[in-house]
Amino acid sequence: MKYTEKDIGNIVDYSDDKGSYYEERIVMVYCSICGSRFIGPIREAGGFLGGHDLFHAWEYKTETETHMEA
Ligand SMILES: [Zn+2]
Repeated sequence: MKYTEKDIGNIVDYSDDKGSYYEERIVMVYCSICGSRFIGPIREAGGFLGGHDLFHAWEYKTETETHMEA
């Protein structure tokens, strides 16, 4: 399923191999660190935000370690 800006605000039901989701709202969220955007169900938007948070925390940690070694 591919969502676009036209879908924002729609309420959808969908299923994947983990389960079925009912009355999920389509939202747009963005990462406040890199500006990347995501459009999709709230459940997936949470995963997007969490994924970016973890990635940027890792990135920051890696850069800090690299600078400390130099
Ligand atoms: Zn990001």
